[in-house]
Amino acid sequence: MRRDPLRDAIEKLKQDFPGKSRSWIKRAIMRLGDVRELKFGLYLVEGRRELCDWKPLYQVWYSERGGRWYCTCYFSTFGFARQRDVCTHVAAVMLYRRYKKALEKAERKRVYVAEGEVECKGRIEANGELHIKPAVDRVDLTFFANPKYKIFVVSEMRRIVVRCSGYEILELEGEEVPLATAKFLVERFYERG
Ligand SMILES: [Zn+2]
Repeated sequence: MRRDPLRDAIEKLKQDFPGKSRSWIKRAIMRLGDVRELKFGLYLVEGRRELCDWKPLYQVWYSERGGRWYCTCYFSTFGFARQRDVCTHVAAVMLYRRYKKALEKAERKRVYVAEGEVECKGRIEANGELHIKPAVDRVDLTFFANPKYKIFVVSEMRRIVVRCSGYEILELEGEEVPLATAKFLVERFYERG
């Protein structure tokens, strides 16, 4: 139901560089944890021997004048040398920025939550992320004769519908909350007895 922010960021990078190989994308992903953001749009990317880096640290920045990203690996010790294609240090920074943005957007997102109790001997489903636990403290043989569950649903839709083996058994009006709050409520749902 919910998109994974990292997956989204990787997809966008692939779309922006359709001609790039899978190994190029993979190297950018490997470098994601090596990116440090400094002030004024400057980024540091740690070098990795296994990715054939010859420096311990690379600087990556965007030049408004040049209208493009630069990396210190484009320069030799004696100055500007190779007008290279986009390196994976730059790609890692692009991925990092997109990931951060996608994360922030995901946190700002609002969803609907609802709680209820159902009786069902079959499969319980809902139009959202469904959390279930037995409605009794102790699960014994009598429980299975008449199984009651407490449910908690996180949905993108206000009208939350719960089904038992395909049949609608409960309809709830969801309460709108930020996604972060919904995550917290899910944790609390499982912690409560
Ligand atoms: Zn580079």
